[in-house]
Amino acid sequence: MRLSVLGATGSIGQSTLDIVARNPERFSIATLTANRNAHGLADAAIRVGAERAVLADAEGYNLLKDLLAGTGVEAAAGAEAVEEAAMADADMVVAAIVGAAGLAPTLAAVKKGRAIALANKECLVCAGSLFMELAERHGASILPVDSEHNAIFQVLETKNSDQVEKVILTASGGPFRKFSLEEMRGVTPEEALKHPNWDMGQRISIDSATMMNKGFEVIEAHYLYGLAAERLEVLVHPQSAVHGLVQYRDGSLLAQLGTPDMRTPISHCLAWPERIPVPTQRLDLAALGSLTFEKPDGLRFPALPLAYRALEAGMAATAALNAADEVAVDSFLRRRIGFLDIVAIVEKTIETLDRAGELSNCGSIFDVMNVDAAARRSAEEFSRT
Ligand code: NAD
Ligand code: MG
Repeated sequence: MRLSVLGATGSIGQSTLDIVARNPERFSIATLTANRNAHGLADAAIRVGAERAVLADAEGYNLLKDLLAGTGVEAAAGAEAVEEAAMADADMVVAAIVGAAGLAPTLAAVKKGRAIALANKECLVCAGSLFMELAERHGASILPVDSEHNAIFQVLETKNSDQVEKVILTASGGPFRKFSLEEMRGVTPEEALKHPNWDMGQRISIDSATMMNKGFEVIEAHYLYGLAAERLEVLVHPQSAVHGLVQYRDGSLLAQLGTPDMRTPISHCLAWPERIPVPTQRLDLAALGSLTFEKPDGLRFPALPLAYRALEAGMAATAALNAADEVAVDSFLRRRIGFLDIVAIVEKTIETLDRAGELSNCGSIFDVMNVDAAARRSAEEFSRT
């Protein structure tokens, strides 16, 4: 099976390449892409014998070309080259770019009818209905990498999908699960980046600390599984052993469990409908002793109710939710704003755009990109004041 990996140098990209390297008879790599990290990309491409390596940053082309000289791996760079890479012949495209930057290349692959292992949840947060419509029209199957959605994919009985009462996404609660608002006010980027259970990229780590990530995941689940917001529930489960649950109308609750290691859901997508060996640490339930669940606290974690409201308001609001959050998270990481300002800025941005009438009539990718740009400008402005 030939794979292309968009975002190969990131956390999901590296876990994907680990699986590829362990199964050389099963997987080969067409293209790997990365943003700016030419060294990381070249190393990975040589290691897995990729046909081609593509850097989004056009200025890195010469360095990448030098690093790949004599290796047989072709080098390319620039935003267009990333889109071409997404469209190039492959059996599956792993969409693991972070942020709205992943939308255009992933859509390009969707329009070619490629099977997509989707980690880039921002595709669905920004443009969920358009993305799923295009996937349907072009026959592109979407396999969810996100651990909660992959868990649901594993226990959702397709023939009984109209008999689902609700879907439950679990959340670890992040590093500040027990913090008061007052305690959260002064936390540093270093503290916020220290996720208790998962090892992930910076943006999703901060989003897990604010619980915006879980809000995005509710939106993601809505589009993947066609369930209304009131059928999507979030439970805080600090042990991160149960990843997702589906409740059927006969009262059965089906769940998928495992240790928090993204190689399990990634491999499930790559090998589906088969399962391949993955050397994760196995879940030792007796050692764990107990699994606990609690309702999320929307007062201390206002990102979650905000995301539900955006989902109700529609695609422009969720696109703005993502774009404003990208800017606010970046501002927090640069120490321009405090931790609690992240969600406050996202909320103010959505209110501002709504009042300006910019959140109505969002029906095309062009409209989505306009809302995205307006939200970035507004959130940038709020980060300065
Ligand atoms: P990361 O920051 O570790 O890696 C991001 C990758 O995207 C890198 O290869 C980077 O070079 C590339 N990239 C960044 N900006 C780009 C741009 N403008 N153009 C082209 N490429 C760009 O992120 P990650 O943690 O691997 O997350 C990737 C995606 O997977 C995100 O959408 C995230 O929400 C999702 N996800 C991650 C995890 C996890 O465990 N890390 C779990 C579930 C979902
Ligand atoms: Mg997740």
